[in-house]
Amino acid sequence: MSVMDIFETMEYGPAPEASSPALTWIKERQPFGLFINNQWVRPVSGQYLESVNPATGKSLAQVASGNSADIDAAVTAARRAFETWSQLTGHTRARYLYALARQIQKHARLLAVLESLDNGKSIRETRDLDIPLVARHFYYHAGWAQLMASELPGYQPVGVVGQIIPWNFPLLMLAWKIAPALAMGNTIVLKPARYTSLTALKFAEIVQEIGLPPGVVNIVTGEASRVGEALVRHPDVNKIAFTGSTDVGRSIRRATAGSSKKLSLELGGKSPFVVFDDADLDSVVEGVVDAIWFNQGQVCCAGSRLLIQENIEQLLIRKLQARMEKLRLGDPLDKAVDMGAIVSPVQLREIQRLVEQGVAEGAQKWQPSWACPTEGSFFPPTLFTHVSPASSIAQVEIFGPVVVAMSFRTPEEAVALANNTRYGLAASVWSDNINLALDIAPKIKAGSVWINCTNMFDASSGFGGYRESGFGREGGKEGLYEYVRPAWKTETVRPTAETILIAKDSTTEEEDEVSASDGTRFALPAIDRTPKLFIGGRQVRPDSGYSRDVYDVHGHRIGEVGEGNRKDIRNAVEAAHAARSWSAGTTHNRAQILYYIAENLASREDEFTRRIVQQTNRTYDDAFDEVQVTLSRLFSYAAWADKFEGIVHRPPMRGVVLAMPEPMGVIGVACPEPYPLLGFVSLVAPAIAMGNTVIVVPSHQSPLSATDCYQVFETSDLPSGVVNIVTGERDVLSQVLAEHDDVDAIWYFGSAEGSKHVEFASAGNMKRTWVSNGHERDWLDAVQGEGQEFLREATQMKNIWVPYGE
Ligand code: NDP
Repeated sequence: MSVMDIFETMEYGPAPEASSPALTWIKERQPFGLFINNQWVRPVSGQYLESVNPATGKSLAQVASGNSADIDAAVTAARRAFETWSQLTGHTRARYLYALARQIQKHARLLAVLESLDNGKSIRETRDLDIPLVARHFYYHAGWAQLMASELPGYQPVGVVGQIIPWNFPLLMLAWKIAPALAMGNTIVLKPARYTSLTALKFAEIVQEIGLPPGVVNIVTGEASRVGEALVRHPDVNKIAFTGSTDVGRSIRRATAGSSKKLSLELGGKSPFVVFDDADLDSVVEGVVDAIWFNQGQVCCAGSRLLIQENIEQLLIRKLQARMEKLRLGDPLDKAVDMGAIVSPVQLREIQRLVEQGVAEGAQKWQPSWACPTEGSFFPPTLFTHVSPASSIAQVEIFGPVVVAMSFRTPEEAVALANNTRYGLAASVWSDNINLALDIAPKIKAGSVWINCTNMFDASSGFGGYRESGFGREGGKEGLYEYVRPAWKTETVRPTAETILIAKDSTTEEEDEVSASDGTRFALPAIDRTPKLFIGGRQVRPDSGYSRDVYDVHGHRIGEVGEGNRKDIRNAVEAAHAARSWSAGTTHNRAQILYYIAENLASREDEFTRRIVQQTNRTYDDAFDEVQVTLSRLFSYAAWADKFEGIVHRPPMRGVVLAMPEPMGVIGVACPEPYPLLGFVSLVAPAIAMGNTVIVVPSHQSPLSATDCYQVFETSDLPSGVVNIVTGERDVLSQVLAEHDDVDAIWYFGSAEGSKHVEFASAGNMKRTWVSNGHERDWLDAVQGEGQEFLREATQMKNIWVPYGE
């Protein structure tokens, strides 16, 4: 056959990568032990699991089946190692990370082959993508270790982190988790996926080779029910980082609720791939190949919903089918295949089941004419047309090489269709009109948006989801915050002021007058009116028609507020949604309104001061200080409103990645007890400065400072519905907010028990939570009471990839 013939027919023979060095490596070591404290140890159970080559269905290796006793040993080793590892200089840690990167590069070929054998993905992908990105991740984070002291002042490592990774990018997910954790000074217990442990075990050898101190990285293989759950529940683990299915993410959210463990979840997706009629269709076809047939579609951000502008739908489908005919599927070690094997027979059956369901629901299935190998787990590239947006194949994550095509007419329809999913991990937008593409990108609710490209990853750019795709980011500077906490935060749970106040004897000394520090005495204000709720810019009666009494610290009744209930929260959420255009306004405008609020509050500072005195029995001077700090805080967030901006990343490609903080959406806020005015403003101001709308449940004991703000808001040009205030039983209302599927995030500053309930209830739509776990913070202190920690909680990063050049 001549070269010309080959070009004509594209038929060429197999070009397999040699597997013998990897098979020898396995043979010499198996059965594989657990890697704890830099030692290879036998699992306590004495049991081993089989790792199977998905391309052949034959056994590849025996790996240890760990259990909770092994997790205990690993966590103990990690805790011991944390004492010294966290104290090393950033430079020293950088040297270790650099050594890991170098060593990974030296073993790149072995790692690539092992990954293909164990997972079934093509050698072309493991060699050219997975392993180079793994090395890049360690290099990049060596840099952050070096810079931690100067770039993250005031932060400390979290402690011992438990990391649980899936089987679709085994070594890459390991790198995404381990590199930032080590860079920030944490120690690690990692559980690989049951199907794919081998590259993690090779990585353990690399850890030994470079002399990483014992206990810094521990790897415990085994099953989810024995190893994963034990790690999640272990009391001495300070953070869980998980990548995998949304269902398991939800159960981990519930299992860690109230435990003070930090949590990041990278979950499933059903990402839209949006094609406008002016796009370069040949590039689009290659884009679709990369979007859904890369790694056999077993990619959380796979472009599995192909949304095509109606007038080019038929043309694009024809081109795509022609390309699908030419795709090569087969032995993953063949350097010339496009697609390898599905990870396991279980996963294959699940894909088959969903495809059959699609056919039964009336969609049209199209597959190329060639057949898959009969040995091993293979599934052909599959295209569905005539798909209803509500059908299961359009909504459920198939996690296989299956794309569903739908059409739209206008950009608005494209956005609506793209957002018609419970997920929000990624999206691709294809158009030669960059104005249109950059207009659409922010409108799609997804953590990453690729313009005229797809499935691009780099260590410098954060990756993570909106909505049920999880929360937290991996990569970029934003990813570092998942592995640190403010230095002032301790882990000791102290009783909140709420508990202290409730515990106080309400029959103690009675006072009708209050002294200012200069000795002036003034009468407490009379009980004159019952503030209503503040919903949609109007003061409205509570649905229940009831009000609740407000007492001072001595048990005197000093006023009443409305008793809000579930219905009021629902109305407030509706109002907050109706005000979403707040996020589209200019940051300059938001800053102006925050200044205006400060101005109007300042003109009533005496009244606000007296109100604080009345509720808390603090001195006038003390309360006056609180009002002054409140004013300063409003100024701070007015300042930040147009300054908390994104970053332009320069990944190794011709193009840029625009990392833009976007508002979370609708945030439910439960205010702390102490500092009734400052606590309220310290939470509301950063949330609205970043473009969110809020439903606020004020301090339980002292709600009147918040309700006094109604008139301030009404006179400060704050659009209706941006701030909604529902008074009442704070923990009950927080629970309703946490359960509400149209609330995107919840902040709760109250008891440890209340924090637990909020975290647990939030698992419904996987809303992001920020809870105090019963820890008090000093709201008067600018380090604890304001700053970028608040702004980060108020936003989520979107990374928009914009390649350039012809
Ligand atoms: P899972 O979410 O079940 O597994 C991911 C990881 O979590 C594995 O290490 C698994 O261990 C572990 N795990 C599972 N259950 C628990 C638990 N209760 N507590 C602690 N750890 C646990 O994904 P699957 O592998 O079962 O895949 C099922 C589906 O999940 C796929 O079809 C796909 O839709 C989705 N998925 C999404 C991924 C993503 O990147 N977003 C990646 C992988 C899957 P073990 O391997 O031992 O079961």
